[in-house]
Amino acid sequence: MGQITLDRVTKSFGDVSVIPPLDLTIGNGEFVVFVGPSGCGKSTLLRLIAGLEDVSSGTIRIDGKDATALPPAQRGLAMVFQSYALYPHMTVRNNIAFPLKMARLDKAAIDRKVEAAANVLNLTNYLDRRPGQLSGGQRQRVAIGRAIVREPTAFLFDEPLSNLDAALRVNMRLEISELHASLGTTMIYVTHDQVEAMTMADKIVVLNAGRIEQVGSPIDLYSRPRNRFVAGFIGSPR
Ligand code: ADP
Ligand code: MG
Repeated sequence: MGQITLDRVTKSFGDVSVIPPLDLTIGNGEFVVFVGPSGCGKSTLLRLIAGLEDVSSGTIRIDGKDATALPPAQRGLAMVFQSYALYPHMTVRNNIAFPLKMARLDKAAIDRKVEAAANVLNLTNYLDRRPGQLSGGQRQRVAIGRAIVREPTAFLFDEPLSNLDAALRVNMRLEISELHASLGTTMIYVTHDQVEAMTMADKIVVLNAGRIEQVGSPIDLYSRPRNRFVAGFIGSPR
């Protein structure tokens, strides 16, 4: 579970092409980072996978099944938004429980899943607080908790740490990596930060103007960048 395949996927807004035909396979359980400069199409690509945007052409498969026309809720994926997308008037418990309430699970099942997620994320003692009473890192964990309870086949992160300070960012990177190690679920993580890409990824996808410049492990890209763009972006002296 959690294999995602893009086959000749394109995206245009009006007559502006943002993603030219693109092929990509994301393996089950991989931690894949999309990296590239601002405006290169990282968020668009993630939103296409999530189903928040429709492809202009091409096919998206999830675990072998054609998901191109499926609405977001039926794709089995969970997008982690930045922590400011929490509901300020709701407790941590209710923020995490929200997708389960929408899915009309019974209360006992909701409580069980929320407590399990809180346990993984060290939020057990904060369930009755509201987001305004939490630190930035705790708020980000609540946002992740809201994704975890849905038990997705893949997590999609779009620059989740960009509004945290530098020290906290380092901490949260580690926490997300640990979460990946413990859940073993596919994660796609978008960032414009090379260090984040190099330290977190199993596989890095370097994007430039909607095109894939190179796909490889951090060490591959560092030691064998395919072109100047990749070399410059990853910062290897070549
Ligand atoms: P990134 O996340 O890498 O910064 P985006 O995927 O947000 O890049 O944007 C890629 C390009 O697509 C940009 O030129 C952006 O202006 C354009 N774009 C993104 N969303 C829309 C939209 N809804 N309508 C028109 N253009 C868009
Ligand atoms: Mg973006």
